[in-house]
Amino acid sequence: MKQITVTSPLLPPLEEFNSYLQVIWNNKWITNNGSFHQELESRLCEYLGVKYLSLFTNGTLPLITALQALRITGEVITTPYSFVATTHSLWWNGIKPIFVDIDPLSLNLNPELIERAITPQTTAIMPVHVYGNPCDTDRIQAIADKYGLKVIYDAAHAFGVKRNGVSILNYGDISTLSFHATKTYNTIEGGALICHDENTKKRIDYLKNFGFAGEIEVVAPGINGKMDEIRAAYGLLNLKYVDSAIAKRREVATEYRERLKDIKGITFLNDISGVHHNYSYFPVFIGDDYSCSRDELYERLKEHNIYGRRYFYPLISNFSTYRGLNSASQDNLPVANRMADSVICLPIHHEITKEDLDRIISLL
Ligand SMILES: *Cc1c(COP(=O)(O)O)cnc(C)c1O
Repeated sequence: MKQITVTSPLLPPLEEFNSYLQVIWNNKWITNNGSFHQELESRLCEYLGVKYLSLFTNGTLPLITALQALRITGEVITTPYSFVATTHSLWWNGIKPIFVDIDPLSLNLNPELIERAITPQTTAIMPVHVYGNPCDTDRIQAIADKYGLKVIYDAAHAFGVKRNGVSILNYGDISTLSFHATKTYNTIEGGALICHDENTKKRIDYLKNFGFAGEIEVVAPGINGKMDEIRAAYGLLNLKYVDSAIAKRREVATEYRERLKDIKGITFLNDISGVHHNYSYFPVFIGDDYSCSRDELYERLKEHNIYGRRYFYPLISNFSTYRGLNSASQDNLPVANRMADSVICLPIHHEITKEDLDRIISLL
């Protein structure tokens, strides 16, 4: 039986990649803001509809660098319903994460609950557009403005997502993307930071290159976050194919919704009107009225060579490393705990076939 995985990396045609590699071999400029790197930055700005973008070697370093660039300290309000890198980026800056519960419909940070978590130490909010569904950016910004807080969006899932024609990456002070192999658009490993003014972009570019502002001038304790030419070239090629991959994912999502809607005990998220989605994940939630538990379903699928993933379980706040924080208590996060205990992300990618869907859906 063919193995069906939760995702499959979008790979550019090998012949096309070979010809780009030949260019790199000829130029012998393999990293440090080479021509493919520069071209990918400007192409991504165009594609995404953003003004300033800096490429990184993965999606975690732009989070860490954003916090450095904005000099965030003390406490930051964030969501436990995400990939661990969101919270890790705070610890790597000596910042205390304050977990706030999520909204049961969007699964994003619940803006109603943010204000009561603010203390004199709070300096920023770090929400996640989870599964690529936009946060309530207006309400989050209103709170940030009222208390003088910065907003950094972990937009790792939100590649290409637009609301009313505007990129979701244009909200907050900084947004970050991941181009990891498992994401809708990938550069094998990779990521980017989006900001809204030239000075910040300049500072980010210093920070990702050890703080160098010139050949013999270092203006900040920077890090090495640079993307190399090989992955930039790969990214340029994948950019040509990502729209058709998203269209395929959309067909898969439509089929799931059509065929799962009458199964008792299974619920899922619908498209939001006015939002251009990227269909990066297809989470379903297994209720008490389903014929087995979420974990039983997960194992049954595996027995049939179908690999769903329980994103995001366990919650970040339930990992042993964070469990001891006051804000990590289950009483503080009832919705996030409930959703994490019932979620399973079904396979969705550009290579899922009609037969694959038949197999998955008949098992469900
Ligand atoms: C994938 C992901 C990251 C980290 O990205 P890497 O490129 O793997 O470092 C950060 N946040 C979220 C929400 C993610 O899903």
